[in-house]
Amino acid sequence: MSLVSSSYPAPDLSNRTIAYFSMEIALSPSLPTYSGGLGMLAGDTLRSGADTSAPMVAVSLAHRRGYFRQHLDSVGQQTETDVPWSPETTLPQAGETVTLSLQGREIQVRAWRFDVIGVTGHILPVFLLDTDIEGNDPWDRRLTDHLYGGDTYYRLCQEAVLGLGGIAILSALGVKPQVHHMNEGHAALLALALLETQLQGGSLRDATEADIQAVRRQCVFTTHTPVPAGHDQFGLDQMYQVLGHERASAIERIGCLHNGLMNMTYIALRFSRYVNGVAMQHGKVSQQMFPEYPVHSITNGVHAATWLSRAFQELLDDQVPAWRTDNQYFRSVYGIDPALVAHAHLKGKLSLFRTIAQRTGLKFNPTVLTLGFARRVATYKRASLLLHDPKRLVAIAEKIGGLQIVYAGKAHPADNAGKGLIRDVFAAASRLSSSALKIVYLENYDWDLGAALTQGVDVWVNTPRRPYEASGTSGMKAALNGVPSLSILDGWWIEGCAENITGWAIEDGDSEEAEANSLYEKLQHSIAPLYANPTAWAAMQRHCIAINGAFFNTHRMLEQYFTSAYFPIETSSVATGYQSPLQRRRATDDPAPNSSQASLIPATA
Ligand SMILES: *Cc1c(COP(=O)(O)O)cnc(C)c1O
Repeated sequence: MSLVSSSYPAPDLSNRTIAYFSMEIALSPSLPTYSGGLGMLAGDTLRSGADTSAPMVAVSLAHRRGYFRQHLDSVGQQTETDVPWSPETTLPQAGETVTLSLQGREIQVRAWRFDVIGVTGHILPVFLLDTDIEGNDPWDRRLTDHLYGGDTYYRLCQEAVLGLGGIAILSALGVKPQVHHMNEGHAALLALALLETQLQGGSLRDATEADIQAVRRQCVFTTHTPVPAGHDQFGLDQMYQVLGHERASAIERIGCLHNGLMNMTYIALRFSRYVNGVAMQHGKVSQQMFPEYPVHSITNGVHAATWLSRAFQELLDDQVPAWRTDNQYFRSVYGIDPALVAHAHLKGKLSLFRTIAQRTGLKFNPTVLTLGFARRVATYKRASLLLHDPKRLVAIAEKIGGLQIVYAGKAHPADNAGKGLIRDVFAAASRLSSSALKIVYLENYDWDLGAALTQGVDVWVNTPRRPYEASGTSGMKAALNGVPSLSILDGWWIEGCAENITGWAIEDGDSEEAEANSLYEKLQHSIAPLYANPTAWAAMQRHCIAINGAFFNTHRMLEQYFTSAYFPIETSSVATGYQSPLQRRRATDDPAPNSSQASLIPATA
């Protein structure tokens, strides 16, 4: 496996002003450094950063044994195996090794460099931290092995490596970021490392509110879930044991505990000058969760070139080649013959059906309406809402000339309830499958399968319990490929749903029964008739790309991070010298910076 050509010289790091920290980053389909949506978003963000020559670097962990590979037996019982990979034979090593003090002993941390390379050749280096170094305690050598594996003690040690080790490595490499972006709370301990830097060797005991403010000016925090279990917290005994007395007592004193626990979200909130949720609704929900802090919203996106099918890439390259550098050109799909759009989608559908046949032996029919449902298996996602009334589903399938449903998704290894949900779908699939209705559950939902599914089905289904879906991004991948969604109005879909134009809303009900009813009604009376009319369906496919593809992409999202979070528009030119394209345009209109806000950014440039 060779991912990076050694002919790429290490990029100049001295002018990188933004450091992006994430516990998981999906960098390549062949690297197991991600679990799901959070890592995909991180990877897509960096791919758009590389495409738009953003002055960024990123930090994550190597995850030498990956998240896991999912195996499903004939009744849908999930088992897991590790996905070992070897950074040594895959990536160049970053030049420096640093030493941290954790758990009362020293631990060495090094990094491997993965270069994300943009359309114009801009390199965005990602440093994957690794503690598997001779001389480290044998237990510590395993700390960068398992993404979301182990117990809370293991997790806290990993988060310490990410936050404290990440800042130390960047400093050793000569990177001097002005903005540190915490993608979720896992990286919040980076703030403590910045506070230590701020004190220039002085004790954390002496940190003043002014020192904390100095750190706040350098930090931006994105929170990703309204599900309480998604916010890591640790007992004080573990905090003291892992971080040692000086750091742990500083966290207590600075007011970062929540309900008597060390809470990574509250550390991130306390130390960030800008906080956001990942869709408009999620920002509001987060604001209610954290009323003491102002919470903004920047809606997620996906990296278009990563998720568009080959057929759509070829069509767009032919008709609007500028889409690769500027995703706003997706709007121009209205200038493309709808028959060509429908044909590009059909190629994705045929390709998905080949994959299904290879993996399961099942023959899906390309003329039949096909629904896709694939996501992390969590109870709030309600994978089985579609199967709520099996008899009715079968009757609809018979009435509308057939229906095919493709499922995929992993349950966390420790989530027995989630594993039960997979078995439930398997049981329903074998009970209900007939000549009119076909249901299949595909193993090991990952990058490649996620792409094949969102490019190949006709309708993307999402049935979360409100308001737990912070954003969701798989429906955005589908939209880019001309695939409408049938979804609960939660997360991004509140912004993306134009009824009968980009898809359909499952109407809110006060019971599962009522929501399932709405789902079946739309399926039978709105979706199936439209699908039976190829001209109308092709028009809808174009709407999905023109309206939602043009907006729900990471090029647009990153631009918003630049102008709202990283370098708020009034301050950027003064403090950093960096201007996003939008800012450059604005700067010519209004050259006078707002001096009172300019102090938000430290004058280190
Ligand atoms: C896009 C993607 C996700 C996130 O999708 P959601 O809509 O947030 O569930 C998760 N896993 C994989 C493999 C993906 O490609």
